[in-house]
Amino acid sequence: MELYSTKHISPNVMLDEAVKNGLPPDNGLYMPIRMEKMKDEFFQNIHKMSFNEIAFEVLSHLFKDYISASDLQNIIDKAFGFDAPIHWLEDEIGILELFHGPTLAFKDFGARFMGRLLEYFLRNNKEVVDILVATSGDTGSAVAHGFLNVKGIRVTILYPKDKVSEIQEKQFATLGANIRVLEVNGTFDDCQAMVKRAFLDEELQAALTLSSANSINIARLLPQSLYYFYAYSRLPHQELPLVFSVPSGNFGNLTAGLFAKELGLPIFKMIASNNDNDIFTQYLETGEFQPKPSVQTISNAMDVGNPSNFFRILDLFQNDWKAIKEVIEAYSFDDEQTEQAIKDVYAQYGYIMCPHTAVGYLGMKAYRDSTHLKANYLVLSTAHPVKFGEIVEGIIEQVVEVPERLNEVLGTQKLSIPMENDYSAFKIFLMQNK
Ligand SMILES: *Cc1c(COP(=O)(O)O)cnc(C)c1O
Repeated sequence: MELYSTKHISPNVMLDEAVKNGLPPDNGLYMPIRMEKMKDEFFQNIHKMSFNEIAFEVLSHLFKDYISASDLQNIIDKAFGFDAPIHWLEDEIGILELFHGPTLAFKDFGARFMGRLLEYFLRNNKEVVDILVATSGDTGSAVAHGFLNVKGIRVTILYPKDKVSEIQEKQFATLGANIRVLEVNGTFDDCQAMVKRAFLDEELQAALTLSSANSINIARLLPQSLYYFYAYSRLPHQELPLVFSVPSGNFGNLTAGLFAKELGLPIFKMIASNNDNDIFTQYLETGEFQPKPSVQTISNAMDVGNPSNFFRILDLFQNDWKAIKEVIEAYSFDDEQTEQAIKDVYAQYGYIMCPHTAVGYLGMKAYRDSTHLKANYLVLSTAHPVKFGEIVEGIIEQVVEVPERLNEVLGTQKLSIPMENDYSAFKIFLMQNK
């Protein structure tokens, strides 16, 4: 599988290099060349296949013979093994629950697959690879768990002090082993800026083998395409138009849906559902992409002022704003609307949503109310509500039950290291702790 850079300056690379490097040297983003459509036969049989069988078909189609069938099967079996069920609120409205993995968020799919893929590519490597991750919450826990004790890899997670929930922090900041955690006195954008700068720092590059596990890494994105196929396979009415609403921050999840569409999945519309960080919504309205500092909301994993996958979307549509508008619809909602949606859905259906899922629900509803289209509406549920328990419980005035697998990580000791919002302090830390 060959990949190019969205900036078209760096040469094409093969998958292992793209996964190891994270970003191309020209600071673009890696994109797979030639995504050919899956065969009709695959779609005819898809309803009979398990998640892992669908994963195998799609990934072997993408990778061609780059990874042998038995190695790929092994990676898939180690990475996945949790369900992605649809909870139907009504005949046409389903919640695609992507939070049944170990850290209760959809990021488990990407992070666990990337951990196993990287382990495979590094199997003959002698040096340790340093993964740098900026997180606004869920990436940290998914990557920490996805890479915990993976051979040949050391992870450094940066997160904004006081801006992630207590449960999130405990999920990634208490593991130890090959997972190091820095608590940065700044915002998520500051954390992301430090990571981006590290990748462009030649001195660091010479001293360490750096890689990223943010949603900019292609190994995180590809497996996220899989649950779009899986959701389609479980529809009782496959003949209806298919509309996905995606609660979005860095737009990795939405981009993965666009990949699925490229691969032939009959997606009619993608809805980019945003909170007050409305950069993409503005872009669709005006045609201008204007990153802004992020603002804090109750859907904090989507508090992103400069969505990093934007240029992948632009590239997929060859910079054609009109073509993008034909496939993607965008809406933004504030915290008050989000809270109301959590309350309404609980009252009407007895179903509890996390704030991110609630933003997705609102996007779906806005689109449905304006078009009256008869369709399969699937809202991606990106996290279990208990991860945002304090907020959700305050709104519905009910206790959210803690699933067993989360209890296991709570109450352990926080191991994060305080860090100023200062690139040179970060660099010194990396150089001194090789
Ligand atoms: C990361 C995250 C998002 C945003 O996903 P992107 O791929 O960055 O757009 C939404 N909800 C939750 C719970 C998340 O953790």
